[in-house]
Amino acid sequence: MLTHQQSAQLFERAKRTIPGGVNSPVRAFKSVGGTPVFMKQGDGAYLIDADGNRYIDYIGSWGPFILGHSHPRVVAAIEKTLKHVGTSFGAPTELEIELAELVSSLMPSMQMVRMVNSGTEATMSAIRVARGFTGREKIIKFEGCYHGHGDSFLIKAGSGALTLGVPDSPGVTKGTAQDTLNADYNDIESVKRLVREYPNQIAAIIIEPIGGNMGVVPARKEFLVELRELCTKENIVLIFDEVMTGFRVALGGAQSIYGVMPDLTTLGKIIGGGLPVGCYGGRRDIMQRVAPAGDIYQAGTLSGNPLAMSAGIETLRLLVEENPYPDLEKKAEFLEQGFRENMRELGVNYCLKKQGSMMCLFFTEQDVVDFKTATSSNTKHYAAYFHAMLERGVYLAPAQYEAMFFSIRHGEKELEHTIRANREALELTLKRELQKA
Ligand SMILES: *Cc1c(COP(=O)(O)O)cnc(C)c1O
Repeated sequence: MLTHQQSAQLFERAKRTIPGGVNSPVRAFKSVGGTPVFMKQGDGAYLIDADGNRYIDYIGSWGPFILGHSHPRVVAAIEKTLKHVGTSFGAPTELEIELAELVSSLMPSMQMVRMVNSGTEATMSAIRVARGFTGREKIIKFEGCYHGHGDSFLIKAGSGALTLGVPDSPGVTKGTAQDTLNADYNDIESVKRLVREYPNQIAAIIIEPIGGNMGVVPARKEFLVELRELCTKENIVLIFDEVMTGFRVALGGAQSIYGVMPDLTTLGKIIGGGLPVGCYGGRRDIMQRVAPAGDIYQAGTLSGNPLAMSAGIETLRLLVEENPYPDLEKKAEFLEQGFRENMRELGVNYCLKKQGSMMCLFFTEQDVVDFKTATSSNTKHYAAYFHAMLERGVYLAPAQYEAMFFSIRHGEKELEHTIRANREALELTLKRELQKA
């Protein structure tokens, strides 16, 4: 048994001054139970906790660490900027242009870009720009997609109704909720119905082109193609939220895989190389409306700061030089095969979805294509599985509806260990269930 004495103590201490003891809710292990593990150090594919336990990390800080923790070249770039440049000026620097040019060249739909400090800021800003540009107020999002914690995005469809939204959180006003409409992922008819119901009122449709926040749920190609056609026809701004998928599934993001170009794109996570960076951008005629080129206001004291820019630039340069995507794909296939073989031997057939170095094992035998099928998963089984994996030195996301991320530092040894742990953890989970029955 691993001991978590230090983590338990830190958690008690944290709870006294930090709500729930964490600075972002899912870290608190609420959906799997138990005490969150406090981390002390990241090292390539590994995390080391406050008690000195070592885990193979499949969260990668929720997406940024496609190169693994503390990549020497990224660390060197940060150190160099820290020593010779500074951390922030509130005045423009060349580094900002470099990152903007890199992003724009890798994702050609992003003709112009604006740096911000998080994915949330990027999506909030993108819908403001879409509203300002179209002069319309409503947006359509998809149930099960996550776009950060901006008020407009914390709305789910009320049961049975696809029309007016109901806030998911106290503090989100009814007025805001009314401007957010929910459609069903991979279901173009649900979108068309809303567009018919609110003619000339929809400013933007925002979507994760590969769903990564209800587990991993890739969109169907025809669905995205039809969404693109609909937006063009109705003058609706199509926003791809690629905060997770940008530079993760391919250098050009999900849009390069599908060959479908949005009007605006939001980025985060990998683009900051582990420091806080977000970015939004797209069509020149839309982005030219952003202040001070245009009249739509958006600003940030620390936006584009040299430290974060250098981490992002070095990360993207490494991705361009090394093109790790084919290799990551092979690793994903290896893991998938191992997991599937384990399931076959144990007589279960859970749904496994993957795209590049994002993967999710859903504890359901249904094919997961949207929020409804994703939530057919048995989250109690996931919780048991999660703890059994943790005990075997594999750190997964402490919730079913998250992606498993891995990095270029996850080698054969780590993957093989993970497959063995998966076999034992699945077996334990199933045995426990039989005993209960
Ligand atoms: C993580 C995420 C966000 C929010 O980014 P933060 O940096 O956490 O604010 C938005 N959209 C998607 C698709 C994400 O995965």
